[in-house]
Amino acid sequence: MPELPEVETVRRGLAPSMEGHVITRADVNRPDLRWPFPENMAARLSGAKVTGLRRRSKYILADMDTGETLIIHLGMSGRMTVSGDPLGQFHHDHPAPAKHDHVVFHMANGARVTFNDARRFGAMDLADTAQLDDHWLIKPIGPEPLGNDFSDSYLTSALSTRNTPIKTALLDQHVVAGLGNIYVCEVLFRAGINPKRKARDLSGKRIAALVPIIRDVLSEAINAGGSSLKDYRQADGELGYFQHGFQAYDREGNECQTDECNGTIARITQSGRSTFYCPKCQR
Ligand SMILES: [Zn+2]
Repeated sequence: MPELPEVETVRRGLAPSMEGHVITRADVNRPDLRWPFPENMAARLSGAKVTGLRRRSKYILADMDTGETLIIHLGMSGRMTVSGDPLGQFHHDHPAPAKHDHVVFHMANGARVTFNDARRFGAMDLADTAQLDDHWLIKPIGPEPLGNDFSDSYLTSALSTRNTPIKTALLDQHVVAGLGNIYVCEVLFRAGINPKRKARDLSGKRIAALVPIIRDVLSEAINAGGSSLKDYRQADGELGYFQHGFQAYDREGNECQTDECNGTIARITQSGRSTFYCPKCQR
């Protein structure tokens, strides 16, 4: 499932083809994804100029000169591809329509942006840009981990009432936006914090240390995603998936890479999700 760095990579990959450009026509090939599409979505998108392409948590937000913002969520298996961009960023010919190509944006610049989602856990909605912060998908989300509102004092206060394991607390989108299973495992590994430890029992010092680690882990992944865009042109024009090495995630049974630790990465299940950690150096 795409997490914040993957979604940010998709956003950056889409920007050259969409930002500042007009959607000549949008094809909406079915009535719904995870939820029904908004009324007249194709008509409301067709002819609109995308004035900005932003991200909030795992949502891509396309602001348009119509005063509306298109909200895009990739869900579990949503994929976005760009083809035929005349700007020279992408060199893919338009592919033949494929199964599960649910929404297609034909850009005035010749690019074609396709949203394909076999499992249909993705979503799209339209909202008044001025009221976007009150949209039901956006409103409950906590601060952006790379933004100024995410600070020591904020995180200390947010965790002080959580009687759950720190792993579960960091996955809670009310606490911090966009962190998912993979990057939370990496963050706790780097912080040397046992994922089973109760959030509210962590000292202020350990919580303060988490803030820059969360930022570093995400920034490194975003940079890896950026490199994937540079040498990309992934064979099929798909955006957002890139090779990235993990120290804890999916390394069960492998030797811990922390200096001076000869522990072994273990896997446990927490809230139905796999947690990978080193029982020796994560305390
Ligand atoms: Zn270790």
